[in-house]
Amino acid sequence: MISRTNALLFGILVILLSASILTGIFSRDIPEDKEPGKSDDPNEIIITPVKNDNSEELIISLYNHWEKKLVKISLEEYLTGVLAGEMPASYEMEALKAQAVAARTLVVYQLPAYGGRGCSRHDGADVCSSYAHCQEWISREQMRRNWGEDFESNFKRIEQAVQETKGQIMTYQGKAIEVFYHSTSNGRTEDVREVFSNSLPYYTSVESIGEENGPMFEGSVTLTNKKFAEVFKSRYGIKLNPDNLASQIKIDGYTDSGRIRTITVGGKKLKATEFRLLYGLNSTDITFVFGKDTITMKTRGFGHGVGMSQVGAHQMAGRGSSYKEILQHYYRGVEITHY
Ligand SMILES: [Zn+2]
Repeated sequence: MISRTNALLFGILVILLSASILTGIFSRDIPEDKEPGKSDDPNEIIITPVKNDNSEELIISLYNHWEKKLVKISLEEYLTGVLAGEMPASYEMEALKAQAVAARTLVVYQLPAYGGRGCSRHDGADVCSSYAHCQEWISREQMRRNWGEDFESNFKRIEQAVQETKGQIMTYQGKAIEVFYHSTSNGRTEDVREVFSNSLPYYTSVESIGEENGPMFEGSVTLTNKKFAEVFKSRYGIKLNPDNLASQIKIDGYTDSGRIRTITVGGKKLKATEFRLLYGLNSTDITFVFGKDTITMKTRGFGHGVGMSQVGAHQMAGRGSSYKEILQHYYRGVEITHY
């Protein structure tokens, strides 16, 4: 546990370190989308106005990929933008609160002051605004555009979810946990080691109720056999016979959650997660339907399946679960504490 005084000192440290461009301090990957010649001048940092109602407000560095800028923003203010980007504002309040705690935990885990390494893609950023890397974040202006006349009521809901969980994160053995969450599961969540290869004790496969009510539960991709073979060849250099795909695609095994673990295509053994990305499938719960000239890949669920399912959280909340019960269902053995 970190005392409040230390948390404040760490907060100041975060500000100082984040604003610096001493790139040698943290070992980060080379930013993939850095524009050549684009300055890292700290003078370009924009200070976003934040509510100053709490002297212990933690300020973080956010890489805003929409504007390609590093901005400083209070953690709680930032979280409203995450909720607006990550979860429908119409979802149950307890689901929104669970999402707020999960999103806050993700950031605290990454803060250098808490032993984290920041966003590995953007120098000086604690977190970036991309759902494909850290987590989605949108600005107030984007919320207004997305929501139109519902802005006021929607914003009030997400602000309530953030405020009512203020400062709360999930910890395991006293440390912020590494957070994964996803849109929709296939009815069970996935063990983290099936997707990210590292094992974490709080990520076992658990049941996730009501997923079939989510709009993204079922998906399918249909390609001509020829196209399927072309995509495969361009990635692996292996030529498939488009006239007989069924005999060249073999499912090797399933994970405990019923998703495919590995699949052999044209003699090449692949992780299903890799296969999913190659064909842009919603999940690794895949059923193949072989037609005369086409192949259809039907999926259940949307996302990697690890951690909290957002649809499942909404369903649990609708059946009376609190945000703490939701989180402790999807993240086994965690405590909800103040960072
Ligand atoms: Zn990132």
